[in-house]
Amino acid sequence: MQGQMQAQPLLISTLLTHAERHHGSQEVVSRRVEGDIHRTTYAELASRSRQLAKALAALGVQTGTRVGTIAWNGYRHLELYYAVSGSGAVLHTLNPRLHADQVVWIADHAQDHVLCFDKTFLPLVEAVASRLATVKHFVLMADREHMPTQTAIPNLLCYEDLVSSQNDAYTWPQFDESSASSLCYTSGTTGHPKGVLYSHRSTVLHTFASALPDALNLSARDVVLPVVPMFHVNAWGLPYSACMVGAKLVLPGPGLDGASLYELFEAEGVTVSAGVPTVWQGLLGHVQSKGLRFSTMTRTIIGGSACPPAMLDTFEDTYGVQVIHAWGMTELSPIGTVGILKGHQQALPKADQRAIQSKQGRGVYGIDMKIVDAEGAELPWDGKVSGELMVRGHWVVNQYLKGDTSPLVDGWFPTGDVATIDADGFMQITDRAKDVIKSGGEWIGSIDLENIAMAHPAVAMAACIAAKHAKWDERPLLVVMKKPGAEVSKEELLAFYDGKIAKWWTPDDVVFVDSMPLGATGKMLKHRLRDLYQDHLQAQPACAPGTPVSA
Ligand code: ADP
Repeated sequence: MQGQMQAQPLLISTLLTHAERHHGSQEVVSRRVEGDIHRTTYAELASRSRQLAKALAALGVQTGTRVGTIAWNGYRHLELYYAVSGSGAVLHTLNPRLHADQVVWIADHAQDHVLCFDKTFLPLVEAVASRLATVKHFVLMADREHMPTQTAIPNLLCYEDLVSSQNDAYTWPQFDESSASSLCYTSGTTGHPKGVLYSHRSTVLHTFASALPDALNLSARDVVLPVVPMFHVNAWGLPYSACMVGAKLVLPGPGLDGASLYELFEAEGVTVSAGVPTVWQGLLGHVQSKGLRFSTMTRTIIGGSACPPAMLDTFEDTYGVQVIHAWGMTELSPIGTVGILKGHQQALPKADQRAIQSKQGRGVYGIDMKIVDAEGAELPWDGKVSGELMVRGHWVVNQYLKGDTSPLVDGWFPTGDVATIDADGFMQITDRAKDVIKSGGEWIGSIDLENIAMAHPAVAMAACIAAKHAKWDERPLLVVMKKPGAEVSKEELLAFYDGKIAKWWTPDDVVFVDSMPLGATGKMLKHRLRDLYQDHLQAQPACAPGTPVSA
């Protein structure tokens, strides 16, 4: 017997049409690359998104066509989010912090047809344009006044010209909710990055769940400022959930330093924000050094890397800002667990509450999880035994783009994180089985770094591991065994990376060893090296995430 309720497909366009009809006058405020503050509303955003959808169709964008973006958090990027996915095409957000060669590889793998980018990234796009074989149209996200007089990009299109070339008489198409909506690449633990292709259904369900009170707790009374970039796992879904709940949206553009963020928080009455610990360190540093207070912010979502307990204490005790600690990954678009206390835990002594909050949290509805031992057997939820974290659910990857083998094990996705789960269902990450390094919220591929070191004539074996770092959470540390009789200095090895990778990927230091720890199959045991050297780094890196892409 069938239910007799309406069956409407869960489409991303419905989030925008809801915001337009029910919260049409709600504001969207953006700090622009042009330097000013821009204000619009959901009604205007919806209208311009329809114009843009028509303009993209005129450029040959059809159902399933990939449209790439390289852009900050801003209203034009938001229009692309809705115009591209809403019209049935696939939004592919590229990370500008990657090396030019990786940008080329990813755009090529995704087969992007159009590439839209902020003016900040004009030099990057000019450098790679001739190598982007599939890209037929380049669009600068600016008005006519801000178009460059000269550029190496042939037939560079102006975004505002495209939008104004169309009226907004356009009806969002209806199609299967399992159709692809957007594409994000994650750092591959081996080899190249991997594309995770979200669907309309997975995105809308993620949006529902992420807005719940025990998740990001969003409402029409909120003013939301996503610091997490829209080029990084869809800014944790906030561009969608803000529309779903009708929250005011404040988009910080390139201004990610403490002073610029604080100014926007106060001027726009921001109540909730979201970002990686590194960003909050910058903001707290600014607020503390100037003796400032947050007058409207009530909570902040921290994820991407573990939130340090000291940061939790400072936000909650000194500034009265609730910390919502969340865990997720690109393969989950991204939210998996959120660390909000249960009722009975609120009566616990403060220190016990903090210990629970610094865990990565409990699974939101829609995500199931378990921990398993090396043989795949499920382990108990006792908060003590750790094993690899496996997840499954409505917004968990099933297959990577163009992947020929399934990443799943018995229907579960192995996260590469090692964790405990306690009796209340709070998951805590204790280690990482995957070898990638996470610095300031961005991945650094250890294999790329090792391959480069191995190409040096004096190097016999090289391993690159994540070393703890006070500012960037983790930085790469290169461990090298030299060839017998060969000589090479740390400086020579580090200089060997110049031009081969993004500068901030360069290891912070080199440790020379006489032998490498090897496993039974001859593989290097990186966890042994991590145990030995993870506390090795004291100094700040010469260059770190964010530096190559300042506005
Ligand atoms: P994102 O950075 O948006 O969470 P990524 O796919 O880039 O997504 O990174 C996912 C990985 O980041 C996780 O598998 C985990 O290793 C790490 N991670 C994410 N959130 C946390 C957290 N709160 N605590 C510790 N590690 C985290």
